Amino acid sequence: MPFSYRVLNANYVNAYTFPGGAMGVTRGIMAELNNEAELAALLGHEMGHVNARHAAQRQGQAMVVQVAVAGINVAAQDSQWGQLLGLGSQIGASALLSSYSRDHEREADALGQEYLVRAGYPAQGMTALHQMLVNEEKAQPSLLSTMFSSHPMNTERRNTAAQLAATRYASSAKAPLQRERFMDSTASLRRIKPTINACQNGETAMASKAFAQAQGQFESALKSSPRDYAAHVRMAQCLQAQGKSSQARPFAEQAQAIYPQEAQAHKLSAVLALSLRDPAAALEGLERYDRQLPGDPGTTFLKGVSLEGMGRRQQAAQHYAQYLRLTQQGEAAQFAANRLQAWGVAR
Ligand SMILES: [Zn+2]
Repeated sequence: MPFSYRVLNANYVNAYTFPGGAMGVTRGIMAELNNEAELAALLGHEMGHVNARHAAQRQGQAMVVQVAVAGINVAAQDSQWGQLLGLGSQIGASALLSSYSRDHEREADALGQEYLVRAGYPAQGMTALHQMLVNEEKAQPSLLSTMFSSHPMNTERRNTAAQLAATRYASSAKAPLQRERFMDSTASLRRIKPTINACQNGETAMASKAFAQAQGQFESALKSSPRDYAAHVRMAQCLQAQGKSSQARPFAEQAQAIYPQEAQAHKLSAVLALSLRDPAAALEGLERYDRQLPGDPGTTFLKGVSLEGMGRRQQAAQHYAQYLRLTQQGEAAQFAANRLQAWGVAR
C-alpha cells in the first residue's frame, strides 16, 4: 500500500485516512501528543483501518457544518488529497476516525498496537493516545462530542490497550518513547498552541453558528500569531458566513500571501472576489487552485462563472460544458445547463 502522511493545517483534534493509504493528522492533534510512541499509535490505528479494508461510512451531515461557499458544493471530489484538504477545511470535529463501526475501531486499535510494538515503540503508546482523548473529551466536551459520540468507547479502548500492554506486549515496555526527538520536531507547533486553542474555540462556536463569539476567538488567534495561515482562513470564513464578504476578503488574501502553496485560500479568495463582483481576480485565484489541486469540478464551474462575468462567453460555455461532463446533479449543474441552453450551445 502506498502509504503517505501529512500534517494538516487544521485545528481540531483528528486524523483522516483514505482506503488508498493517504493519511492526514491535524496540527490540533499533533500539539496534544507527547512522544513518537503516541504518534506511532495514531498512525498504526489508521493503517489498521486501511489494511483491514474497513469502509468508512458516509459522514453524517449533522456532524459537519460546511461553510456555505456561494451556495455551491465546491468540495474537491476527484483526488484523495483533494478530499483530505476539503475535510481539513470543514468546520468542527467531524471524523472519519469516528465513522467506522465500533468493531472496526477495536480491530484498528489491535492492529495499530501490534504495528506500534513491531516498529520498536512501547505498547503503552496506544494507552496514552486513548488517555489523551479521554482527557480532551473531559476538558472540551463540546469540541469532541460530535467526534466521539460513543463516550464509553474511549475508556473501553484505553483499558483494552492498557491490558494488552501489560500482558501480550509486556516486553515492549522498555522500548524508548522517543519523547525528546518528538518534542524537538514539534516545538514550533507547541509554540503556537494558544493560537490553535483559540481557533478550536472559534470553530466550536462557528459550528453552533455563534459567529460573533467565533470572530472574537479568531481575533485572539491572530493576535498571538499574526501570520497564521489557518486563523486567517477561518476568520475569512467566519466573516463570509455573516455575509461580510468585503471584510472577509483581505483575510483570505492575506492567507494566500502567507502560504501560497496551499490551495484552500485561493479558492476562498476567489469565491469572495466573485461575490464582490470581481470576476477577473476570482479567475486568477481559481487558476492557482487548479494548478495545486487539479480535477475539482467545483473549480471548473466557478471558472465558468468568472469567465461569464468577464464577458468571455465562449470560454464560459466551455467550462460549463466541462462541468456538466463531470457532474449532472445539483444547483450548479442546473445553472450550467440553463446557461448553455440560453446561449444556444446545448443540444
Ligand atoms: Zn479509527
